[in-house]
Amino acid sequence: MNQSSVPQNVDTERLPCPYCGDSYESGDLARHNEPVQCGPCIQCVGKPACFTCGLMYCACDVHKFRG
Ligand SMILES: [Zn+2]
Ligand SMILES: [Zn+2]
Ligand SMILES: [Zn+2]
Repeated sequence: MNQSSVPQNVDTERLPCPYCGDSYESGDLARHNEPVQCGPCIQCVGKPACFTCGLMYCACDVHKFRG
């Protein structure tokens, strides 16, 4: 049969993360997808663990930029 079907190879693996830009594997999914309720910083609250907060005032251990 010759069916012209829409490609449905949309895997959830190996997608570039919208937060850190890395392409990640399914094993790292939680790190890039699970929201972290981190605290007083409004910039990064609810972002996953891979997110790096750009605020220099960020006191959050998870997202604080480590230079
Ligand atoms: Zn990420
Ligand atoms: Zn922050
Ligand atoms: Zn944070």
